[in-house]
Amino acid sequence: MADEATVGRHPALARLASLRQHRRDGRRAPHKPLLVLLALGHLATAGSSRLTWADAQRSLGDLIAEFGPASRTSRVQAAAYPFTRLRSDGIWMLDHEVPMDAIGPLNAAGACGQLTLNLEQVLLNDPALLLSAARTLVDSHFPRSVAPDILTAVGLDPETVLRAPNEAPDSITPRQRDPKWRDLVLQAWDRQCAFCGFDGQVYGATVGVDAAHVRWFALDGPDTLDNGLALCTLHHKLFDRGVLGIDHNLRLCVSTVYTARTTAGKAVYDLHGQQLQGRPGTPHPAQPHIAWHREQVFKGQPLTA
Ligand SMILES: [Zn+2]
Repeated sequence: MADEATVGRHPALARLASLRQHRRDGRRAPHKPLLVLLALGHLATAGSSRLTWADAQRSLGDLIAEFGPASRTSRVQAAAYPFTRLRSDGIWMLDHEVPMDAIGPLNAAGACGQLTLNLEQVLLNDPALLLSAARTLVDSHFPRSVAPDILTAVGLDPETVLRAPNEAPDSITPRQRDPKWRDLVLQAWDRQCAFCGFDGQVYGATVGVDAAHVRWFALDGPDTLDNGLALCTLHHKLFDRGVLGIDHNLRLCVSTVYTARTTAGKAVYDLHGQQLQGRPGTPHPAQPHIAWHREQVFKGQPLTA
């Protein structure tokens, strides 16, 4: 097993860890990180990162729809962007010469893609390195509430991956979290969910209520009171998955992508249109952070008027 210092300096890993989100029109576009995670999942389970375009357009298209921002782009086109463009990052190759973004030639060629042979071999030789790469990628692009869902979707075990060290290279200094922020947010919202009022305690200690970032910490969201909400674990997850949102009048929105069959599941529908109200003096989330969440995370249209 490579020691940690060696891991952090591996040039191929450094490129992978520093993968920037492909941003178009200022929108979050986690297409490339999701493709790499899908490839890492295949490598870990099948011994090869090779993905046929026929499979990738479905599996990658679904991942992007589920974990990316709402988009009018078709799932197949959304998958074609990273499947062709990740080549320019030097960690991905296709077995046919195909123009960027072009679906027709991918179909016609029956193209396959995979991590570059050198990178694939390095990761195969050191499974701990593979886990670190996956950990670094999810940490860099998604909140912790969402990371286990993505890892499960690509076939990696969240428990194992999230115990692996984050190996962001020295050139990318992770931002430091404010250790007091969680307590300050819970205190500001009276230790209860800002959406449903859940305020469970065990032996006097708050349980099942998180401090949630409106603008994700991983994407430059600050540890400030006007970027925090106390949310029960369920509503935190649904907020970070884009099922729940807040409009500019501080009313809650439930996305139409959410469906439920039971009374407990349908209770989420009842949040739609509710006014967000904290205790007197609690700062509401700032409009720029709410707008970021609405545009980059929420899956659907906010309330009108
Ligand atoms: Zn709640």
